[in-house]
Amino acid sequence: MTTRRTHIIGAGIAGLSAALAVTAEGGEAIIYEAAPQPGGRCRTLRKEDGFTHDNGTHVLFTANGYTLDLLKAIGARDRWFEPEPKGLTLYDGPTGETRRVGLSPWSWLLPSRRPRGLTLPDLGRILRLVFTSRNCPVASIIGKGPIMDNLIEPLTVAVLNTPTSQASSQRLACALRQFIRPGAGRLLVARNGLSQDLIEPAVATLQARGAAVLTGQRLRMLLTSQERVIGLALTDRTVMLGPDDRVILALPPYEVERLLPALPVPKTFEPILNVHFRMAGLSTPRFLGFTGTLAQWALIRPDHVSVTVSAADHVVDQNASNAAARIWREIVPALRSLGLDASVDRQPETRVVKEKRATIRQAAETLPQPPLRPLANLALAGDWIGSLPATIESAVMAGEHAASILRHARCARPPLSRERSLKTEDAA
Ligand SMILES: Cc1cc2nc3c(=O)[nH]c(=O)nc-3n(C[C@H](O)[C@H](O)[C@H](O)COP(=O)(O)OP(=O)(O)OC[C@H]3O[C@@H](n4cnc5c(N)ncnc54)[C@H](O)[C@@H]3O)c2cc1C
Repeated sequence: MTTRRTHIIGAGIAGLSAALAVTAEGGEAIIYEAAPQPGGRCRTLRKEDGFTHDNGTHVLFTANGYTLDLLKAIGARDRWFEPEPKGLTLYDGPTGETRRVGLSPWSWLLPSRRPRGLTLPDLGRILRLVFTSRNCPVASIIGKGPIMDNLIEPLTVAVLNTPTSQASSQRLACALRQFIRPGAGRLLVARNGLSQDLIEPAVATLQARGAAVLTGQRLRMLLTSQERVIGLALTDRTVMLGPDDRVILALPPYEVERLLPALPVPKTFEPILNVHFRMAGLSTPRFLGFTGTLAQWALIRPDHVSVTVSAADHVVDQNASNAAARIWREIVPALRSLGLDASVDRQPETRVVKEKRATIRQAAETLPQPPLRPLANLALAGDWIGSLPATIESAVMAGEHAASILRHARCARPPLSRERSLKTEDAA
C-alpha cells in the first residue's frame, strides 16, 4: 500500500489550518515554509535587544467560529481574551472625549454604548448595508456624517483594510451579519502574542500528530505532468510525489500567480502600518480605538503599546520616524488618561513595521478568483479565497476547505471544468 501524503506549501494560518484538518483525520501532512519561522502575516517578532512584539495587532471576534474551533483544537482558546468587555473605548483625538461603544448592535439599546451621533435614519442606512445585495462602496450607502466617522469608517478599515470610498459593501455585510447574533460581537486579543498563543500551539499539535513543519524551504517551482503535480522544487531539494500524494498551496495570490501563471488572482493590495512603543504599560492589556487621528487602534500590553493604521496607502511610503512621532503625540493623552507615564516630549524606543501587502484590496468589484482545484491533486488556500473579508477566519476556512476538497476528490483524474466553478462558489 502506498502512503498518501499531503504536501502543504506555506505555514501561515491557512497552511496550518489545512494541516490540522488533514491530520485530524489521521492523514499525513508535511509543511514547507519559505521564511525562517511559521506564522506568515500573523507572527511575533523577537529581536536580540529583547523588544518582542507582534508584527501587528490581530483581533478576533466571537463570531469567528472556525478560528475559535481551531483554537480549541490546539488547546489555545483560553489564551484569547476580551480586553474590553464593557464595550470598546473610542478616544476622539480632536476633542479629547472618550466614549464606550458596543460592537454588537444589541448593546446599542443602552444609550451609554451607542455610537456617538447615531440617529434613526443612520440605523436605516446601517440595516441597508447589512442586508445589501448590491456590491458598491460602503460610503455610497452610509454617506457622510458622524456615524461614518465614529463607527463605519473605523469598522470598515479594521475589517476590510480598505477605505470606505472603495470598500465592498457585500464583504463588509458578510462580517456584519455575523455580529448580529447575540454574543458574536465580542472582540478578542492574544494574551501574550500571536506566536505564543496561536502559531506555536498549532505547530505543537501538528508535531504531536506526526506532521513536519520545514522552515527555510521556499517552493521555487511546481513540477507537473498531465494536469497533476509530480514534484516540488524547493530551496535545497526536489521532492518527488507519490501517486496518491496531494498538494495544497496556502500562499498569497502573487505567489500562486508566479507558480501557476494562467490562474486569475487578485492583484491589488493594501498596506498596514504598525508602530510599537517600548514602555511600561498595563498588566492586563487594554484595546483602544481612535477617531480623528492617524492612529486607529492601540493595544496596551505590559511592556509595550502597539498602534495600528490600516488602509495605510496614504502614509506607508512616508518617513517612518515622522509617522511614529505623530502617532506618539496623538496617543499620549489617551495613555495618560489610563494612568500611564507618557509624555509628548519623551517618545520611547519605537519600532515601525510596514506590511505593504497586508491584505488584498477588498474593493466593490468582482475580484478574480481561481478554481479551488486547478490541478487534479492540487488545491488552493489563503485568506484571499472566497468572498469573506480577508482575515484569520477566512484563512482558517480556506485551509480546511482545501483539505476537504482533496479528501473527496478523485485525484487521479483532471478536474472537470464544471466542478471547478461549483467549488469556487462553495468558498464564497
Ligand atoms: C499587520 C496586520 C494586521 C492584521 N490584523 C488582522 C486582524 O486584526 N484580524 C484578522 O483576522 N486578520 C488580520 N490580518 C490578516 C491576517 O494576518 C491574514 O488574513 C492571515 O494571516 C493570512 O494567512 P494566510 O495563511 O492566508 O497567508 P500568509 O500569512 O501570508 O501565509 C503564507 C505563508 O506562505 C509562505 N510562503 C510564501 N511563498 C512561499 C513559497 N514559495 N514557498 C513556501 N512558503 C511560501 C509565507 O512566508 C507565509 O508564511 C492582519 C494582517 C496584517 C499584516
